Amino acid sequence: MALIVHKYGGTSMGSTERIRNVAKRVAKWWRAGHQMVVVPSAMSGETNRLLALAKDLMPDARSPEALRELDMIASTGEQVSVGLLSLALQAEGLQAVSYAGWQVPIKTDSAYTKARISAIDDARVRADLAAGKVVIVTGFQGIDGDGHITTLGRGGSDTSAVAVAAAMKADECLIYTDVDGVYTTDPRIVPEARRLSSISFEEMLEMASLGSKVLQIRSVEFAGKYRVPLRVLSSFTPWDIDLDEEAKSGTLITYEEDDKMEQAVVSGIAFNRDEAKVTVLGVPDRPGIAYQILGAVAEANIDVDVIIQNVSNDGKTDFSFTVPRSDYGRVLDLLKASVAPAVGASSVIGDNRICKVSIVGIGMKSHVGVAAKMFRSLSEEGINIQMISTSEIKTSVVIDEKYMELAVRALHRAFELDGQPT
Ligand code: ADP
Ligand code: ASP
Ligand code: MG
Repeated sequence: MALIVHKYGGTSMGSTERIRNVAKRVAKWWRAGHQMVVVPSAMSGETNRLLALAKDLMPDARSPEALRELDMIASTGEQVSVGLLSLALQAEGLQAVSYAGWQVPIKTDSAYTKARISAIDDARVRADLAAGKVVIVTGFQGIDGDGHITTLGRGGSDTSAVAVAAAMKADECLIYTDVDGVYTTDPRIVPEARRLSSISFEEMLEMASLGSKVLQIRSVEFAGKYRVPLRVLSSFTPWDIDLDEEAKSGTLITYEEDDKMEQAVVSGIAFNRDEAKVTVLGVPDRPGIAYQILGAVAEANIDVDVIIQNVSNDGKTDFSFTVPRSDYGRVLDLLKASVAPAVGASSVIGDNRICKVSIVGIGMKSHVGVAAKMFRSLSEEGINIQMISTSEIKTSVVIDEKYMELAVRALHRAFELDGQPT
């Protein structure tokens, strides 16, 4: 008997018919003798619907008081899902009980709309499992130290599931979604994308952080920290397929160095349209300026990604960086109102129609010329590169958003990723 955590995404929970299918699949695993904890997302479109209602009443919710209410609103989608799934399981003849994040509790910090899980008390869940129940826990939400409901950022149910699996030392965490695994790139953009039967944790971490939304980045961080056995697989296979076959399907996240003889140099292409670029023009080139600019941005709890500072000419330089697109207005206001005057900058400009395209691969550690090949391939398509950032196993470029699909397809081809499943 094993302790298994299943996570089902929005599309997998998209209708009562699909929820019934989820229940039948979970029941199959339970009847095979496993203890089951299930973490579902809100039904597809529901979180967007809820946030649109909020936006209608307050187009630009920014204050902590307003963000608190966004979490109050958005978290309800998952509460509906757990109740429905529990009913479907009871209708299947199983004992099932659902819990909201606060009832477990899943404790988080107080960063509304992007809270981090700090601790999970699993006593209640364990007692139910011991009593033979299937336990269903809301994805995406938790409770902070003062008892306020929080949410974990878009796609956060992945993180809830992996965190529950880590806290309970589950034997496996299976992320069921609307594709049958992790692909070389988003198969919706490149139909020739290949499913990977396994991907190293390091590569998955980069792919997720660079925009592949198949797994939320924090779920991968949790998985790495606690070595959670993690697999991404399809919820659209017939629920009654052989359990052993299902358990081996999809993509396994691996933690040991891959011993494949022919390791691909580039394993995947990620892209992200959720960023915006801001530039502070004419800042004095002296110690402390980067800190003054980025320190203020960090204090506003805004993540900064690619950063570029030009060489100085006549003692002045330009300083550019990217931020989440949802923070674009806020960062421009902040820079214009207080940071630029404080550092003596001449002006602040921005562009929120950019995207970041990245190549990822452990093989890049030991190969030279990979970035050059990327730049050549983009130049052949006439795509201008605005910013570049590299690390050991990835190279990212910031380009005009309108060339994103062209760039991803060209790179997928250039690095010979098109083809048959491995
Ligand atoms: P869920 O609702 O199940 O959490 P998501 O929409 O969050 O599903 O994530 C699954 C989607 O991630 C897929 O439908 C696919 O379009 C997208 N995706 C992006 N990059 C990849 C990739 N490299 N491999 C597989 N899917 C990807
Ligand atoms: N329902 C939330 C969202 O749409 C969380 C999730 O789906 O993982 O972002
Ligand atoms: Mg998701």
